[in-house]
Amino acid sequence: MISFYPGPSRVYDKISKYVRAAHKKGIMSMNHRSPEFITLSKKTIALLKDRLVIPKEYTVFYTSSATECWEIIAQSAVEKNSIHIFNGAFGEKWFDYTKRLRPEAQSLLFDLNELPIISSPSLAEAEIICLTQNETSNGTQLPVYFIATIKKNNPNSIIAVDATSSMAGSDLNFITADIWFASVQKCFGLPAGLALLICSPKAMDRVKKINEQSHYNSLTLMNKMMADWQTTHTPNVLGIYLLNRVLKKMKPIAKVDQKITGRQKDWITFFKDSDKLQLLISNPEVLSKTVIAVKGSPEWNEKIKVKAKAKGLLLGEGYGSLKRETFRIANFPAFRKKEIRKLMSFLLPYL
Ligand SMILES: *Cc1c(COP(=O)(O)O)cnc(C)c1O
Repeated sequence: MISFYPGPSRVYDKISKYVRAAHKKGIMSMNHRSPEFITLSKKTIALLKDRLVIPKEYTVFYTSSATECWEIIAQSAVEKNSIHIFNGAFGEKWFDYTKRLRPEAQSLLFDLNELPIISSPSLAEAEIICLTQNETSNGTQLPVYFIATIKKNNPNSIIAVDATSSMAGSDLNFITADIWFASVQKCFGLPAGLALLICSPKAMDRVKKINEQSHYNSLTLMNKMMADWQTTHTPNVLGIYLLNRVLKKMKPIAKVDQKITGRQKDWITFFKDSDKLQLLISNPEVLSKTVIAVKGSPEWNEKIKVKAKAKGLLLGEGYGSLKRETFRIANFPAFRKKEIRKLMSFLLPYL
């Protein structure tokens, strides 16, 4: 079965080889305070910064999921108010989790085919502005230049970006925001259970000032441990090892982005003249590169998903309120050209 689900998704073929190597080398029983772990952790973060072009002065943390990152940000980087700008289910979930910890959190909604219009005066007072770079639920994205504009216009705020389904697939300009995070079961082509939280010096200054220390995953405590490339708890050492191996093979992000953008164009062309299936998003400026949301009648979508599964092709269900009227196709780097061709020839009679 080839999973085109936009996460968890197809993992790299080499993963099984890497898992065997990890077992043989004793990675699975490696002590997380040992010099061997410290070396692995340090090297993995250096590779990540190299491949994704993350500024040297940014700090990388290991977490278990993007959801954990939502909560860490709310507890450790917000004193009172955050503003969440979103148009889909993941942005909304982030807002909901934040509200439970910080009831003054605010939201600003925008439509699927547009960029948010930011003139709201509340934005100027927000400690932290929360954006979802790639909204996995509906296949929209915020262009990097747009995030840069928000940062420029709000110099006193921290800009936090959920890049769960685009990091390692799209060329993100990390300097344009203060906090970025992603879990590895999307564009990294890895099994779930590990996520990365990436913070600018400005974000870390804010975190140190707030100095929240009530949780095992308080960012101040995590930061103290990370000074020595360690974590506050036993981390997913196998996940970190697999990340290391995948990053070693990974091309620079600009190259990966080129490949993904080319494949996105192929998908746009593929659905262009179809009667029965259309891209959910018509505005190319906000169209996700890594998640293709396709719209059709609920009956047609259902039929396609069932037939696809029988052919060994797993399509992503629509998400949340879009469950029945859409299905989703991951455009993550781990897919092989021939697998995409196979999916296209399967879909051809349904257009
Ligand atoms: C998948 C996803 C999440 C949730 O990731 P977990 O690792 O399951 O917590 C959050 N945000 C976005 C945009 C996602 O695509």
